Amino acid sequence: MSLLDRLAETYTQTPASARLKAAVLFAGVRYHPSLAEAADWAFPNYMPFHLPPGEPAHRGARLVNMPYLLRTADDTQVRLRIKPDSPFTIVPHENPLGYAIFEDGRYVTATTFEPRLPWADQLTADGTPMRATGLSQHGDMLVLNAAPGCEYFVVPTESGKSQNLSCTFCLYGLPDKRMVPLGQELFKRELPESTLQRVAEACSRPDTHARHLYLVGGSMLDMAAEGDRFVQMARFLAERGLTDRYYVTCGSGALPRAQMEALKDAGVRGACFNLEVWDPVQFARVCPGKDKIVGRDRWIASLEEAADIFGAQDVMSAFVGGVELDGLGAMSDPEQALDSAIEAGEYLIPRGIQTVYSLHWKVTGKHRGEEPVYSLDFFLRLNEALYGLRQKHQRPINEEHFCRRCAYMQLEPDYDHAPEPTLWPRHEHTA
Ligand code: SF4
Repeated sequence: MSLLDRLAETYTQTPASARLKAAVLFAGVRYHPSLAEAADWAFPNYMPFHLPPGEPAHRGARLVNMPYLLRTADDTQVRLRIKPDSPFTIVPHENPLGYAIFEDGRYVTATTFEPRLPWADQLTADGTPMRATGLSQHGDMLVLNAAPGCEYFVVPTESGKSQNLSCTFCLYGLPDKRMVPLGQELFKRELPESTLQRVAEACSRPDTHARHLYLVGGSMLDMAAEGDRFVQMARFLAERGLTDRYYVTCGSGALPRAQMEALKDAGVRGACFNLEVWDPVQFARVCPGKDKIVGRDRWIASLEEAADIFGAQDVMSAFVGGVELDGLGAMSDPEQALDSAIEAGEYLIPRGIQTVYSLHWKVTGKHRGEEPVYSLDFFLRLNEALYGLRQKHQRPINEEHFCRRCAYMQLEPDYDHAPEPTLWPRHEHTA
């Protein structure tokens, strides 16, 4: 039986598009030279691909770029990985999108790749490449990280030495040279106006074609200072009409109420304070900074306050699915991990806080390949359970906040989008 047939038989609550997305996320696709050709115009993967022995070089090179994101005929977006034993191939095909996915030679659907975005190659008025302003784009979502350095990496101690309380999975928050052109200084709340000016110029480009603008940044030890930094960004964007143009989300750490209210006043519409892992013991192990500096209870209370301020359809918390099963002190039983993840949904979803699970990837092999910690079946069982909770409490994912055109590794918007009228009886569903 093919993988897709098995998933269809087993996961009857999962829409076909989400089954395909999950299958491709886990199984990847086999290499085909047309993928290397497509990398000329597609949004590129940050890791180039080593051609396997026996495969002819591409334009004389064995290390080649690959597209990063697939976009199928029904607008499902999927992160692309190349795996030699996958049942899936993507080849050029006569259809309006130009390519098709095949499983073991059987046609599945038309597809294409997310293109590289022309705005990222433009310069701001002061000559800065727009891609170096802290702004990046995946599908419909612009992500603005104007202050990437996270203070949890360098927490001062009485001995004078700093302590690293960063989250175990986090590589992107390490304070480094990215902070220099952005003018970020650790322990200082304000960002230079020149940084915000460049970002606003990039966000103002009509060709972003994005709907969501997600503000993120490294955490600060002082929650109020962190909130003030986001308020500064939001006001700057609001004065230039950008909080009207985009659905703006504050993706900070947990914040005090006063800063959330100021963000709301500035036109920010959603909040996303990531708990990363639900189980209290694992939260303390995986996120020592969040645990010691804010505290799990305070973090959850802040999410509940956010639902009160921004609205019950406008708050999310992201989870790194599988991190609780990885490393020293991890849970040993996947069933316990599944129960805990479902418990997160049982607590948060009725309170107007959406749980969103992305996959924790372990780096493997000499070419630094990546494999998810969760199995495909675990991921689908978890997603079916959370989908059931969203239905039970009549709280579908708000597509203005987070949609299937920006979720390339999460399935929640794909479940809730499925245009079957019985699923959300008390909500008008727009396809
Ligand atoms: S708080 Fe965010 S940026 Fe800081 S270590 Fe954790 S995940 Fe990374």
